[in-house]
Amino acid sequence: MGPGFRRDDDYFFRKSDEMTELVFREDAYARSCPARVVGADERGIRLDRTVFYPTGGGQPGDTGILRLASGEAIAIVDTVKGEGPDEVVHVPAPGSALPAPGTEVTAEIDWERRHRLMRMHSCLHLLCAVVPGAVTGGQVSDGRGRLDFDVPGSSLDREAIAARLNELIAAGHPVTPRWITDEELAARPELVRTMSVKPPAGAGRVRVMAVGGADAVIDLQPCGGTHIRNTAEIGPVTIAKIENKGRQNRRIVVAFA
Ligand SMILES: [Zn+2]
Repeated sequence: MGPGFRRDDDYFFRKSDEMTELVFREDAYARSCPARVVGADERGIRLDRTVFYPTGGGQPGDTGILRLASGEAIAIVDTVKGEGPDEVVHVPAPGSALPAPGTEVTAEIDWERRHRLMRMHSCLHLLCAVVPGAVTGGQVSDGRGRLDFDVPGSSLDREAIAARLNELIAAGHPVTPRWITDEELAARPELVRTMSVKPPAGAGRVRVMAVGGADAVIDLQPCGGTHIRNTAEIGPVTIAKIENKGRQNRRIVVAFA
C-alpha cells in the first residue's frame, strides 16, 4: 500500500469524523436510527448519522436520548450545528458520562415535541402565504411560532388571518420537497413572491419546500427545516397576538388552538 492510499484513508477518516448523515433531511418522520459515536467533548457528542435536527432556520434543536447497548441512556437536552458542514452536536445533560468514540448507540428523538415543532414550522409557511409583505424574521418554539412582517400601519386583521390560516390547514394541502429550475422561476415570478429567503440565482435549480400541488402552489421556500406531509396534520391554530415591533414591523404570534 503506497503513500497515496494512506493519504486517502486519512482524508476519508477525517471527512467521516466531521460530517454527519442527516437522516431527518430525507425523512422528517424518522424517530430513531442506529449510529456510532465519532467524537465526544465538552461541546457535545457527534455521531456518524442522526435523526436529531440541530437548531437553525428558526427551528429549535431536538431533544431525546442516545441509548447504549447496555440499555443505559444519555439524555440529550439540545442539538446544535458544529463547525463543519452538516456537523451535528448532541448536547448531553450536565454531568453525563461521555461515550467513547466507536460506541454503538440508538439515537431517539422526543418525537412528541419534534412533531409539534414540525406542525408549527409548517404552519408558518402557510402564514407567509396569508400575510402580504416580506418576512424579516421568525422563530418556532414548542406550541407557538412567530413571524415578523415588513408591513406599514396596522392594517392586519387578526380574525381574518386566523380564518384564512385555518382554511388552508383544513384543506389538507400536500407539503413536499421539490426541485425547481431557474427557467420555472423566471416563467412564474409569483412562485418567488412569498419567499422569505430568495433562492440563489444562477444555481440552475434549487430545492424548495412546496405547500400545495404543482399547479396550485400556496408557498415555496428554500428551507432546511422539518415539515409535516399534509397541512391537515397541523390542526387548528389561533393568532395569539399581533405586536408592533417598529414602524414597519408587525409580529404575528401563532399558537395551537
Ligand atoms: Zn420550512
